[in-house]
Amino acid sequence: MTTDPSDLAAPWLNGDELKALMAKNAKEDPVKIREIFAKAKEMKGLTLEDVAALSAVEDKDLVEEMFAVARHIKEEIYGRRVVFFAPLYVSNLCSNECAYCAFRKSNHQLVRQSLTQEQVAQQTEMILNQGHKRGLIIAGEAYPGGLKYILDCIETMYSVKTDKGELRRINAELAPMTVDEFKSLKATNIGTYVCFQETYDRDVYKQVHLKGKKADFEWRASTFDRAMLGGIDDVGLGVLFGLADWKYEVLGLMRHIQHLEERFGVGCHTISFPRIEPACGSEMSKNPPHAVSDLDFLKIIAIMRLAVPYTGMIMSTRETPEMRKKTLDLGISQISAGSRTDPGGYTEDDGKFEQDDAAQFHLGDHRTLAQVIDSLVKDGMVPSFCTACYRLGRTGQDFMDLAKPGLIKQNCAPNAISTFCEYLMDYASPETIERGLAAIDKEIATLNPEGQKIAREVVKRVRAGERDVFC
Ligand code: SF4
Repeated sequence: MTTDPSDLAAPWLNGDELKALMAKNAKEDPVKIREIFAKAKEMKGLTLEDVAALSAVEDKDLVEEMFAVARHIKEEIYGRRVVFFAPLYVSNLCSNECAYCAFRKSNHQLVRQSLTQEQVAQQTEMILNQGHKRGLIIAGEAYPGGLKYILDCIETMYSVKTDKGELRRINAELAPMTVDEFKSLKATNIGTYVCFQETYDRDVYKQVHLKGKKADFEWRASTFDRAMLGGIDDVGLGVLFGLADWKYEVLGLMRHIQHLEERFGVGCHTISFPRIEPACGSEMSKNPPHAVSDLDFLKIIAIMRLAVPYTGMIMSTRETPEMRKKTLDLGISQISAGSRTDPGGYTEDDGKFEQDDAAQFHLGDHRTLAQVIDSLVKDGMVPSFCTACYRLGRTGQDFMDLAKPGLIKQNCAPNAISTFCEYLMDYASPETIERGLAAIDKEIATLNPEGQKIAREVVKRVRAGERDVFC
């Protein structure tokens, strides 16, 4: 047995230092801000102090300039690609007491359910039938039968095959584990391990996490250290915006990334951006203590796009279609669609009926995957179901080596095009096929000659019936 090193708590997070940085930069300084914009355009990332300064931007023109820089970086690095994934909630049992969450242990209004392996297989099939290739296993933080239940669920999800394929990558958003447990998780071939700190403010953390293992801030804040020691080098961070001052939270996120870079040489693969949404039986979720306005939320997305240009940024279906569109523009690179947050929620009728009394929170975007794809294509985007990097072993530092020089756009475009073409051939309506193929042609025209050649070849192979074509 590997004993978790006792130095794994979170001394790297000094809340007083972060608050002092906020105070020092509280007054908007247009000269300094524009210097930071210029630096951000070099796409080498920003410092904590830069982020603190950007968080103070209130002037309308400066906000617009910041959004323009964010759009520029998004376009330069990610082009018009948008990667899709589908969450699969396997259980809503939980041993914790988080005041904002419907799954918390004492919530007797919630209908509790854990899927059997047969149900996990059936739900996976539903997700595949929508057209997804990338799944995210999620559960409340107590599993029937312990971690083995989750490991079995992942094995089941990977084992499901339909006539149109299988899940090619499963990411996992699960409770923090010991190093040995992370080794077992790694052995199931997961992609990214995701865990939200929820808030980096220790006082607020204590007020909203009332009981259970999660009440231990240090245990949670040291989760990725244990994950990396357990061999998982591909991790996803997140805070739940609305619990504490968002200006502090973005500094907390930055500090966490810095810490992982300093200790392990690689930061995070993704950051998720959930805002508190109303949840069954949670008064706090209806009146968040630090509710984030739409404008501030857009600022958060833009600031993080400037600060960590090569990190994937994820938006779930918590937000409305309008907000999702705006955030995609400013920096979001991955979204879920057609999602359900209640275990067993995917149905043949494409989720028209929500079982809110079993769900973690209310959804803001109820559209099906097909509707979201159609709308994105109309907006000039290129949906992607690509999983190539992970399957070619380009994760952790290898992924960053590829991403940081900006090669990702040229490498990813043919793979995005290939998987989108697959989606069109296998799932789309005739109208979407027509629009989608036109979008593919337009996207190919933006590539360099070598990229164009590769992309045309993959489209030809996919249209001829070949599947899972990637480079
Ligand atoms: S946020 Fe997670 S740990 Fe907390 S009650 Fe909900 S499911 Fe449980």
